[in-house]
Amino acid sequence: MDSPAPDAPPKLAPARDRVAPVHAALKRLYPDAFTGLTHADPLQLLVATILSAQCTDARVNTVTPALFARYRTARDFAASDPAELERLVKPTGFYRNKAKNIRACCAALVERYGGEVPASLADLVTLPGVGRKTANVVLGDAFATPGITVDTHVGRLSRRLGWTRHRDPVRVELALMKIVPQEDWTDLSHRLILHGRKVCLSRKPRCGACAVAGLCPKVGVKGLAAKRRRKPTRQRGEPRP
Ligand code: SF4
Repeated sequence: MDSPAPDAPPKLAPARDRVAPVHAALKRLYPDAFTGLTHADPLQLLVATILSAQCTDARVNTVTPALFARYRTARDFAASDPAELERLVKPTGFYRNKAKNIRACCAALVERYGGEVPASLADLVTLPGVGRKTANVVLGDAFATPGITVDTHVGRLSRRLGWTRHRDPVRVELALMKIVPQEDWTDLSHRLILHGRKVCLSRKPRCGACAVAGLCPKVGVKGLAAKRRRKPTRQRGEPRP
């Protein structure tokens, strides 16, 4: 039998077999896996998740106490004064669009679901402003229904860990659904998000301090910061390479 060439990269075990040890290591590192968005019920989590697009959980949490004191039900949000709602959510950025989505989403909840947040992915994604990512957050954290939330961190870590090559979030989600046990979908998503925020950073991954470095095929990967440094700067008027 041929032996592998000395410089050939080591053959990786199937992705399905590499998920469990990574999750075990992340579990030790982040024993508490839950959303960082403060909420008391599914409606509050839905609204907070809409606000968390392009915004940190911490900032959303500074806005929601006053917001949830002012509007308590989907009917309240649906009937809200647009300018007032925009003012309340402004610190989260993209506030016009977010306020519009919250009002439209809550109007649909009132119209089609009696003001209640539905507990299925198929229903949630029919709501204005709600994609699979938001729907999976709500399912996992408000209804204890497993869901894989593919945000920027989960996508990046899944690729670096060699679990998928896809860049499209829905394809990443479907790939992970095949290799992650269903009962771990929500918790692993939270742990990947935490690891992506603290260690496996997009710009400068901290591989030297990473608890899963021994399990990661991309250990030592250069982040976006290094890639940008390497890119030659084009002078004004110079043709594109
Ligand atoms: S070893 Fe580096 S690239 Fe791999 S998960 Fe850890 S920080 Fe990310």
